[in-house]
Amino acid sequence: MNERAALPLLLVALGGNALLRAGEEGTLAQQFANLAAPVRQLARMARDYRLLITHGNGPQVGNLLLQQESCGEVPRLPLEILVAQTQGQIGYMIESSLDAAFMAEGIADPPPLVSLLSYVVVDAADPAFAHPSKPIGPFYPERPAANFPLIETPRGWRRVVASPEPRTIVEKREIRLLTAQGFIVICCGGGGIPVVREARGFQGIDAVIDKDLASARLAEEVGVELFLIATDVPGAALDFAGPRQRFLRKISAAEARSHLRAGQFAPGSMAPKVEACLRFLAGGGRRALICAVADLEAAVAGDAGTEIVRDES
Ligand code: ADP
Ligand code: MG
Repeated sequence: MNERAALPLLLVALGGNALLRAGEEGTLAQQFANLAAPVRQLARMARDYRLLITHGNGPQVGNLLLQQESCGEVPRLPLEILVAQTQGQIGYMIESSLDAAFMAEGIADPPPLVSLLSYVVVDAADPAFAHPSKPIGPFYPERPAANFPLIETPRGWRRVVASPEPRTIVEKREIRLLTAQGFIVICCGGGGIPVVREARGFQGIDAVIDKDLASARLAEEVGVELFLIATDVPGAALDFAGPRQRFLRKISAAEARSHLRAGQFAPGSMAPKVEACLRFLAGGGRRALICAVADLEAAVAGDAGTEIVRDES
């Protein structure tokens, strides 16, 4: 066992916006530039923590889907393959950025680093399959003739896919072994490649799992001490985007649950983050934080973000 094994395990879930911000063209150079701030902090934090890094893939998987649909010369690939592709692409970007950050920070002997393709098991009978709700990919000005479900949004028609509950992370054993050895592990990208159990193994399925809920499941299955969700706002707010908006600093799980029930956090964006924090705490976790990608270190120090703590029992 090396000396890193004794360090507490920190999970950081990086929002899709850590790479590709709303309104940007989304070139590779922009994506690398956006990663610099959070990754520089992660490199420094790796001195005090073992790190588990998960990430979103919304914009990237949407772009890949668009590329699939714009080329008729080669067979189209299903969504689970595109999720796998984004795990490779974003894993590579985070790895190479971290390597550069270790050098920039003068960290001569950085921890070993690996990004891992991850499947996440979902239940084929999950009610989410009957009610696809997660919009992905391009906006269509007219309703396209398509063999997939669509919803009409203010900006046009959009494909929707099911977003089932993550049941278990298939690679949890590998992730436990690697983190115990002190590896920094990048995994569960885009919520994981969705699969269902079949007699002889796993079968991929057309769905997109929420990356915050998948991260909470991972945290519970691997045994994480500190759970951090990094996004494009300073934390969870009450009366968000209204004149009385105020960001929450430190709240109990009971308070978070009551704000969640009162509809303070939008479904599909802030609600799953708060839900993920609550699940992490219910599963025995101690501290859960939601913060801006630029504030990782400040949030862990207690100086930024929204912290949700376990209820006194
Ligand atoms: P990510 O890619 O990090 O998962 P999301 O867009 O899914 O980002 O979630 C972050 C967004 O949640 C913010 O940009 C904000 O617009 C939205 N949001 C909805 N409700 C709230 C709230 N109550 N407090 C803060 N942000 C909120
Ligand atoms: Mg999100």
